[in-house]
Amino acid sequence: MPGTSISQLLDRTTRHLLTGLLALLTLSLAGVWLLAGVLHPQVRDTTGAIKAARLAREAMLERETSLRAWLLTDDPTFRQRADQVDVATPTRSMGVYVSRDPKLAPLFVDMLVAQQRWSEEWAAALPQRSQDVALATVVAEGSELFSGYEAAADALTDALVARRDRALALEWRALVVGGAINVVVVTLLIAGVARRRRQLRTTVVVPVERILEAIDELRSGRPLGAVTVDGPGELHAIGEGLQALSTAIEAWRSDARDRSAELAGQAARLRVILDMAQEVAGSLSLRYVARSACAAAAGLVEPERVRLWVRDEDREQLVLVQSDGRDDGDGAVGIDTVPLGEGAAGQAARDARVVLGSCGRAAAVPMVVGARVVGVLEVAGTGAPLENGPLDLLRVLASHAAAAIEAARLHQQAEELAVTDALTRLPNRRMLDADLATECARAARYGRPLALVMVDVDRFKQFNDTFGHQRGDEVLQALAGELTAALRASDTAYRYGGEELTMLLRETDLGAAAGVAERLRAMVETRFGAASGPVGGLTISLGVAALPTHGDTPGELIAAADRALYEAKAAGRNRVAVAGETAAV
Ligand code: GH3
Ligand code: MG
Ligand code: MG
Repeated sequence: MPGTSISQLLDRTTRHLLTGLLALLTLSLAGVWLLAGVLHPQVRDTTGAIKAARLAREAMLERETSLRAWLLTDDPTFRQRADQVDVATPTRSMGVYVSRDPKLAPLFVDMLVAQQRWSEEWAAALPQRSQDVALATVVAEGSELFSGYEAAADALTDALVARRDRALALEWRALVVGGAINVVVVTLLIAGVARRRRQLRTTVVVPVERILEAIDELRSGRPLGAVTVDGPGELHAIGEGLQALSTAIEAWRSDARDRSAELAGQAARLRVILDMAQEVAGSLSLRYVARSACAAAAGLVEPERVRLWVRDEDREQLVLVQSDGRDDGDGAVGIDTVPLGEGAAGQAARDARVVLGSCGRAAAVPMVVGARVVGVLEVAGTGAPLENGPLDLLRVLASHAAAAIEAARLHQQAEELAVTDALTRLPNRRMLDADLATECARAARYGRPLALVMVDVDRFKQFNDTFGHQRGDEVLQALAGELTAALRASDTAYRYGGEELTMLLRETDLGAAAGVAERLRAMVETRFGAASGPVGGLTISLGVAALPTHGDTPGELIAAADRALYEAKAAGRNRVAVAGETAAV
């Protein structure tokens, strides 16, 4: 009974008990009243009346006996005795009860009449009796009248006894009936109490036990089934409260499980970043760093494609250095470029901010060191949007990768500077030595031709003296650019030292090298040689040597070319000399 409260149940139970007890009390009082107030007085009164009737009769008998003895003996003592007998008192007390009863009153009157007749017609007439009448006759008359009295008195006594017996029987019956009613009421009361107890057990104890079970289940951490408490309002509410509590705890647990799974995932992803950071920390290879960063990004968000672009500061563009994923064939690594500001990666690099695309499923994350964007990590095509968690991780990853890429870039720059001439931007002598060693070995091994051309600017000291060293520097730069541009892609120009340059001509024999040298000489003469030109008549002299004609080691090749150059100078400058031949005029 969910609508009923415990206090209502208690009130109802108390009311029922009180009603039962009240009924019992009322019945008991009514019984007592009936017995003590109605039935017992009847018994008492009839008993008293019977007793009075008997006393009256005995008194009458004594009086009649005394009168008869006086008649027979003539002894006045008997007469006195007869006169002293008190008949009136018992008769009066009997009359008090009998006169109230309409059925007994006539019998009482009959008895009084018979008593009167005997007293007046016989007893009172005795002193004046005629001596003529025989004593036996007088006695016989008296006996007859007295018999009449006795008959009337017996009738009255019998009626009184009958009345008393009836009253006694009534009293007894009332006692039995009252007792029986009391037993029935008490039985009903006990049955009612037992029924109420059963009801309370069903409605209170059972639900309370169910609630205790539910609390145990909750305490043990088991998920709570449906808590249906069909009890009073309060217990029903407790049941509903427990159910709600269980649901809330279950939701909290599930939330905690989700959070812990999420934290585990975050920890695993941070581990990926940490591993990547440790892995690339010692590396100065840009390709290696880029590959590691892309692999880590793929481990973080399982994207369809990851690309890593590095900023080319000279040309204000991004160069693709790593491309992984489903469509990684699109991008040509090292060649693919995108200008700053174009596309997601270009915008991210220009604005130094994350650029989202594909409804948040693609992101270009700038890699920033200090205030400088060194590259862009581009991630695309994952199922879920990258915002929030994954994007934050990608930012952290990009930040670590940026530092490593910057370190690699600086290292690469330092290496380049170590083998590059600062003024002309040509590879320097160190680079020439390295390349020459490699190329000589290769040429000797495979029997391939290799030529070397030594170039020296004619009378450059004089040029410096005339136009100043700064102008001399500019001319050297211009000359280096022109000569490099005039060479094939497979040939390399080096700054050997001062105003001397060296050309390494791969797969070129002595004759072809002499042709190249002459072409270069003519080109310089044309562009720089005119006295009226911008540089005031500048020419170059060239010495040519080649493998295997002049030996097979770098030293032999350089020495031969140097000798040829010397010969060209000696022959008058602005000319080409082939080692071992007389310089052409
Ligand atoms: P030639 O070679 O024809 O015999 O005469 P030269 O005047 O060029 O003589 P030499 O090769 O001995 O002198 C080299 C001069 O080149 C000396 C120096 O003034 C100049 N020179 C060398 N390196 C540089 C440089 O880096 N910048 C400038 N401006 N001048 C340089
Ligand atoms: Mg010189
Ligand atoms: Mg010179």
